[in-house]
Amino acid sequence: MIAGQQLLSPKDPPPYAVVDGPSTSPLLFLCDHASNRIPESLGTFSWDGLLDKHIGYDIGAAIATHHLAQRFDAPAVLGNYSRLVADLNRFPADPTFAPEISDEIAIPANKALSPKSRQARVDGVFAPYHCRVAMQIDSHIQAGVTPVVFLIHSMTPQLNGLNSRDMDIDVMSMSDRRVAAAVLKAFSGDDNLVVTDNDPYELEDTDYTAIVHCQRRNLPHVQIEFRQDLIDSRENAVHWADILGDAIERSGVRSLAHDPTAETSCLPGVGND
Ligand SMILES: [Zn+2]
Repeated sequence: MIAGQQLLSPKDPPPYAVVDGPSTSPLLFLCDHASNRIPESLGTFSWDGLLDKHIGYDIGAAIATHHLAQRFDAPAVLGNYSRLVADLNRFPADPTFAPEISDEIAIPANKALSPKSRQARVDGVFAPYHCRVAMQIDSHIQAGVTPVVFLIHSMTPQLNGLNSRDMDIDVMSMSDRRVAAAVLKAFSGDDNLVVTDNDPYELEDTDYTAIVHCQRRNLPHVQIEFRQDLIDSRENAVHWADILGDAIERSGVRSLAHDPTAETSCLPGVGND
């Protein structure tokens, strides 16, 4: 795009999608990598073969997120543009925010991105999404609820292009193990499932959404990675969302939303950047 130009035009849909749900819900679902849409302004670049791969979005994650939100009558906020435009789960200064190369594939639209063009990605997509997420969390807290946040993702079954991953679901956490421990325990009785604890990925300090919205506000949270080939159709995504939903039911994590020790007074990012 031309530096200084708006990323989104009036013809483009908003930078996020929302599943409406009551702010009194103990659960909140977020899906950073839900979409493989690109703005019209970036359509002059070649996107052939990029957007339908795992590098373009988290296959199946949007369907799973919608289904979980509806099942629990909970709100959800989903990204509405490809992670190749702006990775909503990376700090904007991170080289992978708008990668020139992703999983060894060159992304022409991100080659030698100017500071102005990078800022347009932040202003057009990243900031509005995260403002909407912060507003959603605020509305829960104003309703007297500390939302238990589920960060829904999917991962490629290939590791470094070679080894096939055999886990069905990776339950990811950092220092706050409240939700992860309860969900892992809820899964532990089912020998037909391969559910891993921070394997192959764990939450790290580059994971913007968990760090800024959950860790800094001390919200109970967990990141879930479904293996993509398990949820690559609507039917399969709903099936696996229900497997997670059943574990959420058994885990009792919804009671954490009424934990009186939770500290939720700080705004995301304030005094921490
Ligand atoms: Zn993801």
